[in-house]
Amino acid sequence: SYQQALAEASRFIKANDHFLVISHVNPDGDATGSVLAVAHLLRHLGKSFTLVNEGPSPQRFSFLKGFDGIINLAEQPVNHRFRYVIAVDVADEERFGDIGHLFAENVELLNIDHHPTNTRFGQVNVIYPEAASTTEILYDLCCHHFRQALNQDLAEALYTGLLTDTGGFRYSNTTHKVMEMAADLLKFNLEPAKIAQHSLETITMGHVRILKIALDTLTFAYEQQVALMAVSLDAIKQAQAERDDIDGLVGYPSKIAGVKVGVLLKEMKEGEVKVSLRSKDTVNVAEIAQAFGGGGHAKAAGFTYRGTLDEAKKALLAKLEEVFH
Ligand code: 5GP
Ligand code: MN
Ligand code: MN
Repeated sequence: SYQQALAEASRFIKANDHFLVISHVNPDGDATGSVLAVAHLLRHLGKSFTLVNEGPSPQRFSFLKGFDGIINLAEQPVNHRFRYVIAVDVADEERFGDIGHLFAENVELLNIDHHPTNTRFGQVNVIYPEAASTTEILYDLCCHHFRQALNQDLAEALYTGLLTDTGGFRYSNTTHKVMEMAADLLKFNLEPAKIAQHSLETITMGHVRILKIALDTLTFAYEQQVALMAVSLDAIKQAQAERDDIDGLVGYPSKIAGVKVGVLLKEMKEGEVKVSLRSKDTVNVAEIAQAFGGGGHAKAAGFTYRGTLDEAKKALLAKLEEVFH
């Protein structure tokens, strides 16, 4: 059960030391908040830890305490192999990115996640798809096993993951329990307006430049129930857009009235397209993403397609025909 899994996780943390804490590539607020929450917990317990991501973490979360401690492997190599690894908000091993060389041969993984598509790749797995965010699971872990560790920094990291993965308490995963957790965390003197401002309300100049170009690519399919937007490598170059700047673009096609599935196709490099899917209706986009080797949640999912932007779009529309015929 969930409670047993939490107890196992607490034993894993208490029994071991010198942890590597990781999340998924292109981290979001839940990934970043979860990594920092685990860091605050481990610090409280007097454990040593290293926080690593394959690439940079989004600057909009730099207000979180400990953010600068997350190592960007692309800039700073780590010459150590870790026996004990805590992975948070990671659905499958492919989502780690290129960090396998940091694992010792006898590595033991604690896998804490809320994706229904999680492959249970850990020795200890706490997979709870009912949770709105991975930080909700970490909150439960703290409440049941490490209540003393909860302080302002930890609460802020947990709240940020909860806020961002519920789209600012707007998605269907915004449950009674989510609001109770938020209410409890606010007792630690958090500033919800500040957190929302940084996490959700601020867009960069680069975002506006890439948005202007991307809106011109907006197309519709299946009687405007599907809306697609694309960003090519050329567009990214022209807009001088960074990776952070592209986050949130998928919201534009998805929010259009009548649209049931919003799509963003992003050319990552020559011959590789990252596809983001958002469902506004009953369409389960996790199933669609899984058909292409990806995954995610019923209402937000993604996959990587090998081919051109046009090929990715064609393949996706062919798959969506099964739903919208
Ligand atoms: P996004 O479109 O914002 O990158 O991702 C939306 C959701 O789908 C997230 O929950 C993310 O974890 C999941 N997701 C995105 N891309 C992939 C992928 O390639 N594989 C898997 N398993 N999940 C993905
Ligand atoms: Mn995530
Ligand atoms: Mn998440």
